[in-house]
Amino acid sequence: MANIAFIGLGNMGGPMAINLVKAGHSVCVYDLSAQAVIDVVEHGASTATSAQEAVKGAEVIVSMLPAGKHVKAVYIGEDGLVNHINKGALVIDSSTIDVASAQEVGKTLTEAGIDFIDAPVSGGVGGAQAGTLSFMVGGTKEAFEKAKPVLTNMGKNLFHAGDLGAGQVAKVCNNMLLSVLMVGTSEALQLGIANGLDPKVLSDIMSKSSGSNWTLDVYNPCPDVMEGVPSSNDYNGGFMVDLMAKDLGLAMDTAVASQSSTPMGALARSLYAMHAASGQGGKDFSSIFNVFNKNN
Ligand code: NAD
Repeated sequence: MANIAFIGLGNMGGPMAINLVKAGHSVCVYDLSAQAVIDVVEHGASTATSAQEAVKGAEVIVSMLPAGKHVKAVYIGEDGLVNHINKGALVIDSSTIDVASAQEVGKTLTEAGIDFIDAPVSGGVGGAQAGTLSFMVGGTKEAFEKAKPVLTNMGKNLFHAGDLGAGQVAKVCNNMLLSVLMVGTSEALQLGIANGLDPKVLSDIMSKSSGSNWTLDVYNPCPDVMEGVPSSNDYNGGFMVDLMAKDLGLAMDTAVASQSSTPMGALARSLYAMHAASGQGGKDFSSIFNVFNKNN
């Protein structure tokens, strides 16, 4: 069992840290929110007065922060953790951030003798609670192997995507494709409904035909076609529009940096930005279905 420091105890980080405690690790947690800290300490973690204190003596440091600017500030900003983490320790940053920031933080830590992997996740809050997240990892093979015993306490599927930053690239590719599939599935279902089809019947037909895909088959965006999905619960729970819009922004940054052509991703980003701006940011991303409702 390892001495672990965990920074960032929000919707995702909180349950991930609790799973590390449950696995028997000694976990010291820190967050700017006192309540977020209390929620994890109640499960057996210890805490510290600052992130700098929390990482003292830690063999593994896990962070789950909102965006690249937070990750950079915490590790390589003023009095950054790079100056407080033991040489030879391993940093696992699971935040979804831009590739350039992940590479800059990783390079600076590595030069200071600290191992680093970018390890964004897929699986949402439910996956974080259940310990079934998928980790997409960028970094050296050695660092990936070193991280495995800790990652397996928080997730089910571990992928080594490639070098530093590759985890973040894999994450934005996946979420860009997911958004395109969700938009396509939504407009196809609305087209069928506008022409008199029962969305259940149409979903069944397309699921067993060449239009089959995850958003249609297991996360149907049309209310009451499926039980237990956000569309049948007024689009509550699940993966928020605001977070999809954030990830699509990162996908576009990645596309621009590599001069890649991503027309479908660009359109999906615009649609999700528009949907968020219309006050739907807190709803599940399948609510994009309503944008194509002719009667709205
Ligand atoms: P969140 O906003 O709930 O949590 C972020 C936490 O970081 C907050 O508790 C905040 O107080 C803390 N924090 C911010 N700056 C800090 C600092 N300097 N020091 C210590 N703590 C600090 O966000 P979340 O939903 O847990 O998401 C975290 C990351 O995971 C994001 O990058 C997000 O894109 C990604 N992600 C989220 C989901 C999801 O479904 N929520 C799914 C996959 C990936």
